[in-house]
Amino acid sequence: MTDKFDVVVIGSGPGGYAAAIRCAQKGASVAVVEKDLIGGTCLNRGCIPSKTLLASSHTLLLIKHAAMMGVDVASATPNWPKIQARKDAIVTAFRKGVTGLIQSHKVTIIQGRAVITAPGQIKIESDATPIEIEAGKIILATGSQPIEIPSIPFDGQTVISSKEALALQQIPRSMVIVGGGVIGCEMACVYAAMGTKVTIVEALSRLIPIEDPWIGRLMEREFKKLGIDSITNQKVTSVEQTAELVKVVLENGQVIDAEKVLVSVGRRPIVDRETIEALNLKMDGSAIDVDEKMQTNVPGVYAIGDAVGTTYLAHGAFAEADVAAANATGGDEKIEDYSLIPRAVYTFPEIASVGKTEETCNLEGLDVSVGRSFFKANGRSTAHNETVGEIRAVRNNSTNKIVGIAMVGAIVTELIGPARTLIGSTEKITQISFPHPTVSEVLKEAAEDAFGLSLHNPPK
Ligand SMILES: Cc1cc2nc3c(=O)[nH]c(=O)nc-3n(C[C@H](O)[C@H](O)[C@H](O)COP(=O)(O)OP(=O)(O)OC[C@H]3O[C@@H](n4cnc5c(N)ncnc54)[C@H](O)[C@@H]3O)c2cc1C
Repeated sequence: MTDKFDVVVIGSGPGGYAAAIRCAQKGASVAVVEKDLIGGTCLNRGCIPSKTLLASSHTLLLIKHAAMMGVDVASATPNWPKIQARKDAIVTAFRKGVTGLIQSHKVTIIQGRAVITAPGQIKIESDATPIEIEAGKIILATGSQPIEIPSIPFDGQTVISSKEALALQQIPRSMVIVGGGVIGCEMACVYAAMGTKVTIVEALSRLIPIEDPWIGRLMEREFKKLGIDSITNQKVTSVEQTAELVKVVLENGQVIDAEKVLVSVGRRPIVDRETIEALNLKMDGSAIDVDEKMQTNVPGVYAIGDAVGTTYLAHGAFAEADVAAANATGGDEKIEDYSLIPRAVYTFPEIASVGKTEETCNLEGLDVSVGRSFFKANGRSTAHNETVGEIRAVRNNSTNKIVGIAMVGAIVTELIGPARTLIGSTEKITQISFPHPTVSEVLKEAAEDAFGLSLHNPPK
């Protein structure tokens, strides 16, 4: 007898497992099919392992600054096998946790590759005999993969993607990172702190090009202090393997020798050809085309997360999972404004933003005022010797409301969730009490400053 489920979710990354749990919470019978590791890219090859390595790197940097805090430490050297083992243990523990969580909601986990053969019909391919299951509704959450540059193909050894970069056997002496976006800059911080000579080559005019120009400029300056060289407005044209090192050739003829070349120029959705053909699925380039209800062109088939190419963020996938799950179980929900999904980069210093960037406001012709507040003027930040960076809040002068907040500084990714709640606020922000002395006061001051009401900024 063929097993039948109200909803079958394909993929168990943040999009897939969240959608499965949400559907189960609505009382649906649910299966989630996973061909690889439960937890998807985020848990196994993305968010969690990268943040674990960054935490070890951060510890090294903190120790290097211990002397100026009045703490004498003899030396600090990375123990790479231990760092890798810690990362693997954390990933394994979280994978166990997520598996247990899914099962606790009575969601059936099916291990294997899901191949949709017809609407509502799914074949599961694995080492065992293929099985067929039936689905009332289907949620596609099949994720993404790193983009390969044809002239610099991945070989998994010297020309690598983020997957290999998270699991290197040894700390390389040198690394060229092709692409100064989020993943490239995070990996640059991991390895620079470990002692690798890192060079980032970015084709556009600045690092982290999705954010405002001041952020890229500030990051380039801070990266220099970490020993990271940033080359912007340049493309890598080829790499040439020699016995010892890779010769990385840039457009301008410059050649950089490196032990490893990490190519991180973005990610591309993964959607199986069989699925596209069996469903006659409408695509938008390599991504699945969906409407604001996360509905594809096929009734009863939804798609979310990296597979739809919207945010390429785990919490973006969570947000889309909520919408798809509600609609697959009889609801009628729409995805909120994508600009309100916070963006976070876990570099040293960190970057975070939510709402409209200054650049977008200018492009849209909005009349805006920008409030600024600096960590070096904040008591708690100074006490912790974390004085780099600032927070900017953008006010739309027509509506008199905050429409965007961007920040660079230590652990600002922890401030961007609360900052989201300030989008839409008015000058009444002055009446909200923030504890003193805390780093969060910089956020309040920036928002106040957008109205010309900052307590600790002199009048403009
Ligand atoms: C190095 C790195 C660091 C990152 N850091 C962050 C971060 O700090 N914060 C953040 O928000 N995002 C981060 N991301 C992005 C984040 O990992 C992704 O946005 C997120 O994983 C997308 O979730 P998803 O559910 O759409 O897809 P995925 O997590 O990719 O999961 C898709 C799953 O579907 C499975 N699958 C595919 N096809 C089939 C099939 N036919 N049958 C069965 N299973 C199938 C895959 O095996 C995979 O497990 C990072 C990514 C990388 C690479």
